[in-house]
Amino acid sequence: MNRAWTEFLMRLDDALDEAGELNRRRALRPLGRLPGGRVSLGDGRVLIDVSSNDYLGLALHPKVRLRAAEYAEQLGGGAPASRLVSGTLPEHLEVEQRLAAFKRTEAALLFASGWQANASVLPALIELMAGPVKVFADRLNHASLHAGLAQAGQRQIRFRHNDLDHLERQLQAAENHGRTRLIVTESVFSMDGDRADLEGLLQLANRYDTLLYIDEAHATGVLGPGGAGLAAALPKGAPAIVMGTLGKALGGFGAYVAGPRTLTDALVQRCGGFIYSTAPPPAVLGALDAALDLVPGMDAERERLLAAAARVRAAAEARDFATFGSTTQITPVGLGEETRALDAMKTLEDAGLLAVAIRPPTVPEGASRLRISLSAAHDDQAIDRLVEAIGAIR
Ligand SMILES: *Cc1c(COP(=O)(O)O)cnc(C)c1O
Repeated sequence: MNRAWTEFLMRLDDALDEAGELNRRRALRPLGRLPGGRVSLGDGRVLIDVSSNDYLGLALHPKVRLRAAEYAEQLGGGAPASRLVSGTLPEHLEVEQRLAAFKRTEAALLFASGWQANASVLPALIELMAGPVKVFADRLNHASLHAGLAQAGQRQIRFRHNDLDHLERQLQAAENHGRTRLIVTESVFSMDGDRADLEGLLQLANRYDTLLYIDEAHATGVLGPGGAGLAAALPKGAPAIVMGTLGKALGGFGAYVAGPRTLTDALVQRCGGFIYSTAPPPAVLGALDAALDLVPGMDAERERLLAAAARVRAAAEARDFATFGSTTQITPVGLGEETRALDAMKTLEDAGLLAVAIRPPTVPEGASRLRISLSAAHDDQAIDRLVEAIGAIR
């Protein structure tokens, strides 16, 4: 009889009860994936999934599935070790070279996930800066970016979301004293679906001798030249460390960091999340190899996706719901109070659509919303149905 264990389990129960009372106890809901951006609930019902990040429908693309299966068949279910020990296959280096070419950078490095990349690359970079560092971070940055900066013990100077005037005042106010300065932002914000002004950020970075760290999780595959992300349009030699994820529009799994070869070489020496983690498995490499064949040629799908998002936004705005400056495939429908967001989720579900309510703490109090994210896999009828359902939200 271990009293500490019993008390610990009781404490967990209390925490769960507390979340339940606040109507914030989350539970996992299994969903079967179907073509056309739809899911099956297991009770015979099928919903159109407008909450997925599979923006191009590549996760279920026949070529992606087939090459993932071929790689697994030929190379095995898992990688044998971490990359520096004996886990680097020729296929890892091939995918990294292809990612670098796609991102128009000298080099790229694979990571197990986007969370892991941000949580471990930022601390490694700050350590490599070898001295006091000042970090300027957009207030709406993703939790993984916070996790990385917290892990580094780094204080953040947080600027108002996408407000470059506010950032510039902070850059002016923060006296430099030879510190390395770093601006951390997403290129497309995951909950608002709006874009950072990367050109403007680059100008500020150059004016104030500052580096950029850009998270392209939601831009990769969807925006920028050939779907290469918004940072791919920055001039060559821009002072930018770029990361993005491979489990969203690319339909695979994992993440990359792209930039000069010196950067990726230094991360291979010093980034714990790269060094002490098993190499990505062959099936993932196969999926990514096929996705990288397909993505640059998907301009028509990207255009259709963004046009559908514009329709959905117009429908939300016609009802006076906030859309948070979205200009991308992510269209938030602002509902304010949590209960309204949950009601709206129910309305959409009754209309055959799965749109998950996003509530605090993921978004600020009073900013609950449906985060509608579209996929090129949705047909016009699916978008029609969504537009109609938005009109029916109470
Ligand atoms: C999803 C996401 C991540 C995390 O990526 P995973 O590969 O899912 O761990 C990081 N940053 C942003 C902005 C994201 O949306």
